[in-house]
Amino acid sequence: MSVAPFASAEIIAVGSELLALGRVDTNSGVITARLAALGIDVVARSAVGDQVAHLEMAVRTAVRRADLVVLTGGLGPTDDDLTRQAVAAALGRRMYEDPEPLARIAARFANRGLPMPEINRRQAMVIDGAVLIDNPHGTAPGQWIDLETGAVAMLPGPPREMSPMLDALVSGVLGARAGAARTFTRGLKVAGRSESHVETVLQPLYPAWRSGTPSIDATILAALGRIEVHLFARSASARAAEQVLEAAIAAAAAALGPCVYTTANETLEQVAGGLLRVNGWRVAVAESCTGGLLGASLTEVPGSSAWVEGGVIVYSNGLKTALADVPAALIVAHGAVSDAVARAMAAGARGRCATEVGIGITGVAGPDGGTDDKPVGTVFVAVHTPHMAACRHARFVGDRTVVRQQSVSAALDMIRLALLGHDPAEPAR
Ligand code: AMP
Ligand code: MG
Repeated sequence: MSVAPFASAEIIAVGSELLALGRVDTNSGVITARLAALGIDVVARSAVGDQVAHLEMAVRTAVRRADLVVLTGGLGPTDDDLTRQAVAAALGRRMYEDPEPLARIAARFANRGLPMPEINRRQAMVIDGAVLIDNPHGTAPGQWIDLETGAVAMLPGPPREMSPMLDALVSGVLGARAGAARTFTRGLKVAGRSESHVETVLQPLYPAWRSGTPSIDATILAALGRIEVHLFARSASARAAEQVLEAAIAAAAAALGPCVYTTANETLEQVAGGLLRVNGWRVAVAESCTGGLLGASLTEVPGSSAWVEGGVIVYSNGLKTALADVPAALIVAHGAVSDAVARAMAAGARGRCATEVGIGITGVAGPDGGTDDKPVGTVFVAVHTPHMAACRHARFVGDRTVVRQQSVSAALDMIRLALLGHDPAEPAR
């Protein structure tokens, strides 16, 4: 039997309900986090319905490509609980009824004054060579099977049963066979740039990262005006990993320039708010197409009363004039969605609320209301400070939610750039 440490793992969540809307596979995330802390990388996870052929295939595949395969679910007593059967078939092993778990299951029922239903017998079926994992919170024991190539663990589906059993494995066999290497991670976040821009800028750095000791892997995640770069290094030495990651983050930040808003995992809201606080400035907003989302984002940060004064939602033209002092003639001349109106809204918010910083947002969130001139996704975001006024003309691509969220990200980024002395009008690429 192999005693090589587990480096990789694959998770199979079992249950047809997990394939439908509404039921979320939370167990896999919990398992991934617990294994990651041991330095065991989850390389794939899947959800498989209650069909024995599919499940058997999934187990065969997983066993081939990962050291450790963790299944969760399908250990109940009913006909759709097929994990034991599928794993036995995939491994080509028999099952037998083990009197010990059978007695425990019967005792659980007896404690509640009930006879054991006959169908619960199948929860005492054990795969040849398996070691049982005690389930203190339910009837179905888990099973652990050592293989030449690694191991298979079978855990129940209900999270309150699964979690303590996983804990027992972590402090037992998994901890003992985890190996010394851990995966360390650092990241940075970028605003106002596209995923492909970030990728293009970072590409020249990849060869050095890949050939370093330890080597560094990078992933780029895009989300609504904010891009995250995650770097990973696997090493038995925390110091060695942290050193290469620190150097790589510094190189990436230098290459990307001021579009990097954090290398410390802060949110854009925190960064913008932190700069306002350090400056002793307060912000007020006049929002049209974002309908208050910017105010909500700014005030997500605890302590934001130190830098957020407030603002107005001025969706109609009438309120843009009445509450944000946008001259009615300006709206007639340029249209409500225009550079001039966004600037006037920023100035109006700032003037009305007596703050140093004012923001105005006006745009076409869609799906209707676009014109050739101003298609859906056209948004003007203006910022006004004691030193400068600027407006960004963006054309966001996406549905209404995307356009509104991108607008919020742009506004937060413009606050940040303005306070750092950069040009906030520079359009997103
Ligand atoms: P099972 O014993 O596999 O039929 O699972 C019983 C119950 O546990 C399900 O009805 C779900 O409520 C829950 N469950 C099963 N699998 C998962 C999972 N991967 N994540 C979270 N809950 C689960
Ligand atoms: Mg099930």
